[in-house]
Formats: sequence, structure tokens, C-alpha cells
Amino acid sequence: MSRLYVVGIGPGAYEEMTIRAVRTLEQCQVIVGYTVYVELVQKYFPGKEYLTTPMRQEIKRCRLALESAEAGKVTAMICSGDGGVYGMSGVLLELCADYPQVSLEMVPGVTAAVSGAALLGAPLMHDFAVISLSDLMTPWEVIEGRLQSAAKGDFVICLYNPSSKKRADYLRRACDILLQYRKDDNLCATVKNIGREGTCTELYTLKELRDVQVDMFTTVFVGNSSTKAVNGKLVTPRGYQDTALLQVQDGGEKCGKY
Ligand code: SAH
Repeated sequence: MSRLYVVGIGPGAYEEMTIRAVRTLEQCQVIVGYTVYVELVQKYFPGKEYLTTPMRQEIKRCRLALESAEAGKVTAMICSGDGGVYGMSGVLLELCADYPQVSLEMVPGVTAAVSGAALLGAPLMHDFAVISLSDLMTPWEVIEGRLQSAAKGDFVICLYNPSSKKRADYLRRACDILLQYRKDDNLCATVKNIGREGTCTELYTLKELRDVQVDMFTTVFVGNSSTKAVNGKLVTPRGYQDTALLQVQDGGEKCGKY
């Protein structure tokens, strides 16, 4: 059997790759990926054979990787963040049936929701939903339904793929749906270029977010009804302040609720 690794490289900075991801790429002969991601890692892994395809050529990219592994070369397909979150893991597993000699190994990475949350503070301390606004492969009505459900359920919401040239008003449309269930001053944030040049975070109210222009390198956060700003950082309280746990930690009395 030959091995194809699907490696999540995290948001972009070398330091934000896992040690396992780095070790895997070090031992690979061939690294396959979308041009932008290959450019991010190339300088750290010299002497490798790099194969790239532009956006929208995902199947071709997957087959390139599978064929390289089938030819006996230790190969990695790199994905930004985690390969299993809007990445290539799923389609590679499906296509793998055509390459019986190739087995896949997934190497997880830090997804944008998590790396973005760390920049913002602690917005994901409670239940959250991740929704992609890209309707390339998901009908917009389905996306709308999920936005409604997450809004109703008072989830913190992370929006991936919030915009592109063809979908310039999608974030506004998403905000209009959320505003049917949430207050105008529901706290939100955008995080752009995490782990890359030009990292930038901004806080908004949901009403303000409606008029914000974002690009495809941005992840959008919509807090839940208790999310607050503390010294410029977003915090979604988990409720420690309201439970006996805090008393135990503070005073060392008897074990309370926990
Ligand atoms: N597999 C990736 C997600 C791919 S979908 C992951 O796990 O992170 C692409 C979307 O992810 C982008 O439109 C953006 O919303 C988000 N994203 C990925 N990398 C990002 C980064 N470095 N900074 C901000 N957002 C990012």
C-alpha cells in the first residue's frame, strides 16, 4: 500500500502548524495543494516536488495527489486549517476507491474558527455552529435554513466563505436572516488573514456587520445573546460566575454543582 497524507497546515504561519503536520511534510517527497497554500509552506520544506492547481480544480488536484501516491511517492495533500473542515479529506476518501493501492491518513490542523477565536478572545466558550456561506455546492435555501436554526438556537456562529466577487452581498443576506432572531446589538467580529500578512480583527454589532465588506480570507463570528466585549476582547461566558464551581475555586468549600 502507498500512503497519501491529508495535512491541515493551520491558518498560515509555520508556528501554527502542528508538530505532526511538520514532521509529515518533512518526510514527504511530493506536496500537492492549491497554489496559495503551497506558496505558504514552500520555504519551510525545500527540496520537495510541488504540484499545484488553481481554485476550482479540486478534483484534478486530488487525482494528482492520488496518482503521485499510487506511483510510490510519499505524498501529502495540504489544506488550509483542517483538511476535514471544508477541505479535501472527504472528496479524497471518495475518490480513493479508484486507487486501491493508496491508503489515506488525515493529519489534523487548526481550523480558522479556532485560530480566529484565539485572536478575538474567547468567543467559542459555549456551543457554536460553523456555517459556510458558499453556495457553490450547497443550495442557498439550505444555507438559509441552517442560519435560521443556528440563530434560533442561540449558537455562537462562525461563518466561513463569507464573500467572494460573485457573492458580494451574501454576508448582508445572512445578517438579515440572523436579525430576524437576534438583537441589533448582538456582538460580532471579523478576522482577516489569520496567521498571514495583514492579520486584522474588528468588532461590530450585528446591525453594523450588515454593511461590512469582507473578502474570502475572512472568518466572521456572530456571538450569542450573552457574548460581551471585555477590554476589546470578545467573551462568551460559560457560566462559571453563576455556579458553585467558582466558590469552590475561590474559597475551597465543599464541592458544589460539579
Ligand atoms: N479548511 C479551512 C477552511 C476552508 S474554507 C479551515 O479549516 O480553516 C475557506 C474559508 O475559511 C475562508 O473563506 C475563510 O472564511 C476561512 N479561512 C481559512 N483560512 C483563513 C485565514 N487564514 N484567515 C481567515 N479566514 C480563513
